[in-house]
Amino acid sequence: MIAKPDPMHALKCHQCGPETEDVVTDLPFKVRGNSIVIIKDLPVRQCGNCSEYLIEDAVMAKVDILLSRVDASAEVEILRYAA
Ligand SMILES: [Zn+2]
Repeated sequence: MIAKPDPMHALKCHQCGPETEDVVTDLPFKVRGNSIVIIKDLPVRQCGNCSEYLIEDAVMAKVDILLSRVDASAEVEILRYAA
């Protein structure tokens, strides 16, 4: 389980300011210059106003681990974010 941020410190959109909502989406990440990794079912926060995504530190830390295991010879790899 991903720890929810303290409501007193809810992530706010850095583009336009309003509170963001929890959503689950698929996002591409570029790794080592020439590989694209698509992570499916990624829990992120999305601004309801401008659709900007924010990724919490705890989620990003896990994404970093997933990306570090990717085979650099693959141009595109699809992973599933498992909580
Ligand atoms: Zn926004």
